[in-house]
Amino acid sequence: MASVMALTTDGSDTGLKGEALEALAGRMRGTLLTPAADGYDGARAIWNGMIDRKPAIIGRCWGTADVKACVEFAREHDLLVSVRGGGHNFGGKCVVEGGFMIDLADMRSTHVDPARLRARAGGGAKWIDFDTETQAFGLATTGGTVGDTGIAGLTLGGGIGWLGGRYGLACDNLASANVVLADGRVVTASADENDDLFWGLRGGSGNFGVVTSFEYQVHPVPLVLAGPVFHPFPAAAGVLNFYSEFSSDTPDELNTGAALLHTPEGMPVAGIIGCWNGPHDAGEQAVRPMREFGPPVVDELQPMPYGAIQSALDPMLPVGNRYYSKGHLIGRVTEELVAVMVDHYQRVPTPGSVAIVQQLGNAAKRVDSAATAFSHRHADYELTILANWTDPADDERCIRWVRELYDAAEPFGIGHYVNSLIDDMSVESAYQPDTLRRLESLKAKYDPTNFFRMNPNIPPSS
Ligand SMILES: Cc1cc2nc3c(=O)[nH]c(=O)nc-3n(C[C@H](O)[C@H](O)[C@H](O)COP(=O)(O)OP(=O)(O)OC[C@H]3O[C@@H](n4cnc5c(N)ncnc54)[C@H](O)[C@@H]3O)c2cc1C
Repeated sequence: MASVMALTTDGSDTGLKGEALEALAGRMRGTLLTPAADGYDGARAIWNGMIDRKPAIIGRCWGTADVKACVEFAREHDLLVSVRGGGHNFGGKCVVEGGFMIDLADMRSTHVDPARLRARAGGGAKWIDFDTETQAFGLATTGGTVGDTGIAGLTLGGGIGWLGGRYGLACDNLASANVVLADGRVVTASADENDDLFWGLRGGSGNFGVVTSFEYQVHPVPLVLAGPVFHPFPAAAGVLNFYSEFSSDTPDELNTGAALLHTPEGMPVAGIIGCWNGPHDAGEQAVRPMREFGPPVVDELQPMPYGAIQSALDPMLPVGNRYYSKGHLIGRVTEELVAVMVDHYQRVPTPGSVAIVQQLGNAAKRVDSAATAFSHRHADYELTILANWTDPADDERCIRWVRELYDAAEPFGIGHYVNSLIDDMSVESAYQPDTLRRLESLKAKYDPTNFFRMNPNIPPSS
C-alpha cells in the first residue's frame, strides 16, 4: 500500500507509511481504502451531492473490532476523524477532508427478537433496512421519514418520526448501544450500564464514541392509515392555518406534518400528511377533518403497511442531488409564520424544494426534558426548509432561498434540532443550558481530547 499524507487534529499533515496502513488493513475484516483504491470514490460519496470531500483514508468497517482498530490507529497517529453512519446528514460532516473517515456503511444488518420486542441494528443501517426487517414481524419503532436516512445520526440526535405521538422519539426507544470510545474501549450503554453515557447518546449526537449497534424497543405496528391530502397552492395560507388548529390537539395515535411542495406532475400545492397508528374506525374519525377541509384536490390517505409511508417520500429525494437545508424548532404554527412561509414559497427556486413542518408528537413531548440529552421537548414541530436541485449553476440561488426563509422564520424559532445544524448555527441553540453543561462534562469524561469533533461539537468542560 502506498504511503499517504493525512490531516491531524492540530491541522498539520502527517505521513502515514505504507507498512502502517497495511498493518491496519491486516487487523480489519473490512477494507482500508486510500484515494488510489477501487471503491474509494463510491465510499466518499454521500446522499448530498454538494459534499465532495476526499479523506486521506477510509476504514470501511465490518464490525466493532474493525471500528476499534480504526479508532486506535487514528489515536496513535493523531488523525482527524469523521464517522459515517447512513451518510445522510445535510452538512456532510461524516466525510472529513484529508483525514480518516471511519465508515460503517457496510454494518447494516438488523436482527429482530419478536418475543422480547427488541431489534438490534448495525451502526450503518438505514431506516429502510430497519423498517423492512422489523415490519416482517409486524413491528416498528419511531424512525426517520426517509428510508435512506441512517439510524445512527438520527437516533443520536433525537429522531422525529411518524410514530412519535405514541412512542416518542427514536432515542426514546433506544434500549442499549454498543460504543467504541475514543480510547478504544468497547462499552455497552443502557439504563443499567454506563447510564450517563446512555443519557448523552440520546440527543448528544456523535460526540461520545462510535456506536456500532443500536438496540431498540419495537412495537406492534400493523397497517397504518396514512398519506397526504393536497390543496392548490392559492389556498395554502388557509390550509396551513387549518393545519395549525387541527394538529394542536391530535390523539397519540396520529402524527402529522404539513408542507408547501410540488406534486410529481409539477403543480405547487399545500399538503397535509398524517399517519394514524391505531384502530382503523377511530382513525377514520380522527382524520376526517383532513379529508373534509377544503376539500382537498388529492386525497391519498389510506390504509397501508407502515413501511409504505416510511418510503413514500424517498422518490422526491434521490441520492446525489444537490441539497441545502436549515430549520427551526417551533411552538405553534402561527398565522404570522404561515404568511412568511407562503410568501417565500412563491419564490421557490426549484420544484423539488419544500418547506415542511413536522410534529414531534405527544409521547415525545411527555418525556421529561432532563431524561435524555434531547432537551427541546417544549417544541411542537420542526420547520425544515429544503432546497433540492441538480445543476451546480443553481447553487447560489437555491442556498439563498433557504437562508432567506430561515432568517424570516427566525422570530418564530425556539431552538434548533441538533441534526439540522449547519454552517453558523450554534450547538448551544440545540440544548437547554443545563443539558449543555451536562453534555460538556460527559464529553470531558468520555472524550477529553475531543477526538470525535466532526459533529455538532460539544467541547469538553475544563
Ligand atoms: C432527506 C432527509 C430526511 C430527514 N428526515 C428526518 C426525520 O424524519 N426525522 C429526523 O429526526 N431527522 C431527519 N433527518 C435528519 C437526520 O436525522 C440527520 O441528517 C442524521 O444526522 C442522519 O444520520 P446519518 O447516520 O444518515 O448521517 P451521517 O451523515 O452518516 O452522520 C451524521 C453524524 O452523526 C454521527 N454519526 C453517524 N453515525 C454514527 C455512529 N455509528 N456512531 C457515532 N456517531 C455517528 C457523526 O457525527 C456524523 O457526522 C433527515 C435528513 C435528511 C437529509
